[in-house]
Amino acid sequence: MTNGTCSNCKSKNIYKSQNTSWSRDGITVSALGDKVTETFATEAYLCLDCRKLEIYVEEHAAAIFGKGKPLAEMIEASTNWKKI
Ligand SMILES: [Zn+2]
Repeated sequence: MTNGTCSNCKSKNIYKSQNTSWSRDGITVSALGDKVTETFATEAYLCLDCRKLEIYVEEHAAAIFGKGKPLAEMIEASTNWKKI
């Protein structure tokens, strides 16, 4: 998908989301904590022919200043993501 070809149907009709904001535009992933919710931006690839949606979550949480918390640490500690 990231190379412009659909991994499901081989179509080249792929669109990438433009989600560059630290806030909630586009598709985001939330990790709920006891006091704080961390929000992670994503890069999403959508095939308009078969509608497959592939999402890559950013490695660090969105932050107004500096670098946000790491994804792996926050997901493991969250109350809304459970390991399967
Ligand atoms: Zn496709």
